[in-house]
Amino acid sequence: MSEPGSNDAHLTRRRFFSRVARGALGVAAAGVAGAALVKAGARRQVWQIDPFKCVQCGQCRTHCVLENSAVKCVHDFVMCGYCELCTGFFYPDPNALNEGAENQLCPVGAIRRVFVEEPYFEYHIDERLCTGCGECVKGCSDFGNGSLYLQVRQDRCLNCNECAIAAACPADAFIRLPADRPYVVKHLGKDAVNPESANGGNA
Ligand code: SF4
Ligand code: SF4
Ligand code: SF4
Repeated sequence: MSEPGSNDAHLTRRRFFSRVARGALGVAAAGVAGAALVKAGARRQVWQIDPFKCVQCGQCRTHCVLENSAVKCVHDFVMCGYCELCTGFFYPDPNALNEGAENQLCPVGAIRRVFVEEPYFEYHIDERLCTGCGECVKGCSDFGNGSLYLQVRQDRCLNCNECAIAAACPADAFIRLPADRPYVVKHLGKDAVNPESANGGNA
C-alpha cells in the first residue's frame, strides 16, 4: 500500500487540500460541540477507543447497551491510500474489484466505494448501517494503512458510568477523554490519545 503522500502527487492541489481538511475534520467534528460545553463550564469526560490498542475483537458490536451500538467505524482520509484494492472493503482474493456484494467484507454493506480518478477510490462509512463489528478495520489494519478505525460516536453514546464494552474489552482500549476533545484523530499519532497532549486530538 502506498503512503498518502505518494498518491498526492497524482492529485490536484485543490483536491488534495480538500481531502486533508475533510480527513482531519471527519473524526473530530464533534469536538466543536465539546468545545461549546467547555465554554458553558460543563467540563466532563466521555468514553472513547484508543485505536492503537483496539484488536477488533467484535465486542463493540455486541456489548453496547444500545441495540445499535454507539461504536462506529470512522475514516481518517489523511492516512488512506485510496487503494483500488482496499483490504477494508474487499474480501481477500475477491472475484472482481467491483461493488458486488459477494466481494465486500462489510456484512451490512455500510462502506460506499467512490471512483476518484485512475486508479484511486474513496471509501465512505454509512453510520446508519455500520454495526461497529470492526471487520473492515481489521482488514485495513492488517494489510492497509490503518485509516479505518473504531470510535465511540458521542452523538449516540449514553456515556454510561460503567460502559459495558469497556468492561468486556480484552485490550484495555476503552479510555476516558475530556468532552471537549472527544475523538482520537489517528493521523496525529499516539499523542492524540493523551488528553493532556498539545492538541489532544483536535485536528
Ligand atoms: S471491545 Fe476493545 S478490542 Fe474489542 S473491538 Fe471494542 S475497543 Fe476493540
Ligand atoms: S465492516 Fe463492520 S465496522 Fe466496518 S463499516 Fe461494516 S459494519 Fe461498520
Ligand atoms: S457508554 Fe454505554 S452507550 Fe456508550 S458505548 Fe459504552 S455501553 Fe454503549
